[in-house]
Amino acid sequence: MFPTVRIVLVHTSHPGNIGGVARAMKNMAFENLVLVAPKEFPSEKAEARASGATDVLAAAQVVETLEQAVEGCHLVVGASARGRHIPWPVVDPRELAAQVVPDLSRLKVALVFGREDRGLTNEELQRCHRHVHIPSNPDFSSLNLAAAVQVLCYELRMAVLADQQGEVAGERPRWGTEWDIELATADELERLFEHLETTLVDIDFLDPDNPRQLMPRLRRLYLRSHPDKVEVNVLRGILTAMQKKIGG
Ligand code: SAH
Repeated sequence: MFPTVRIVLVHTSHPGNIGGVARAMKNMAFENLVLVAPKEFPSEKAEARASGATDVLAAAQVVETLEQAVEGCHLVVGASARGRHIPWPVVDPRELAAQVVPDLSRLKVALVFGREDRGLTNEELQRCHRHVHIPSNPDFSSLNLAAAVQVLCYELRMAVLADQQGEVAGERPRWGTEWDIELATADELERLFEHLETTLVDIDFLDPDNPRQLMPRLRRLYLRSHPDKVEVNVLRGILTAMQKKIGG
C-alpha cells in the first residue's frame, strides 16, 4: 500500500524495538524499513518482537548514514518528541497524512525516527523539510519508538482509506502536485547547501569560526519552500557565477 514511503530508524539501540517497528509497519501495510547504523541487527530479539513481520525485517536496508537513508526522497519528515532551539515547520500526524497522501504516488517520502535515549540530533532534524510531533502529554512526551511509528503509519493508512473512499475533501496543502518539474531530492538539496556554505565563506559572509545559526536558518528557508530540480540548478548556477566572479 505504501511503496513510496520508507521508515528510517536512526541508531536504534534495542533490537526488540526494530522488531516492534516491523510489526507496526506490516500491520498498516508498510514495507520499506531502513536502519541507520543499528546497534544490533540482525537479531533474534528483533525477530521475536516482529512476531510474523519477519519479511519486513529480512528486506530491511542497513546503511551507515542518514544521508544514505534519505537519498532520492522528495520529502523528509523527522519525528520528534520535543521542540528544538530553532523552530521548524511542525505538523501532527493527521496533518502530515492529509498533506502527503494525495501525492504519495509521485513523492518518495522518508519518515525519520530517532534514538531511544536522545531522539534525533539538531543536525539530523535540520535535514528534514518538516517535523512531525505526536501531541502527547507535555510532561511525558516521549513514546516508545515502535509506538511512535505505529501512530504515524496508522494516520497515513487512515488517510489513504479515506482518500480511496473520496472523503478527503476541501483545501489541503499540496507538495508538487501538478507541478511541471520534479521536486529536488534530499541529496540534491544537501549538495546545494554545501555549495551555498562554501560560497558564503568565500565571499566572507559566513565566518567558519563563528557560524552562529546561519546555515540552519538558510536550510529552513529553502526546505520550507520545497524547491524543484530546476530551481536548485538555478540557485547553484548563481553560486557558481559568484565564485567565478571573485576568482574562487
Ligand atoms: N528521549 C528521546 C525520545 C526518544 S523516543 C527524546 O527526548 O528526544 C524515540 C523516537 O520516537 C524519537 O526520536 C521520535 O522519532 C519518536 N517519538 C517518540 N515520541 C514522539 C512524539 N511525541 N512525537 C513524535 N515522535 C516521537
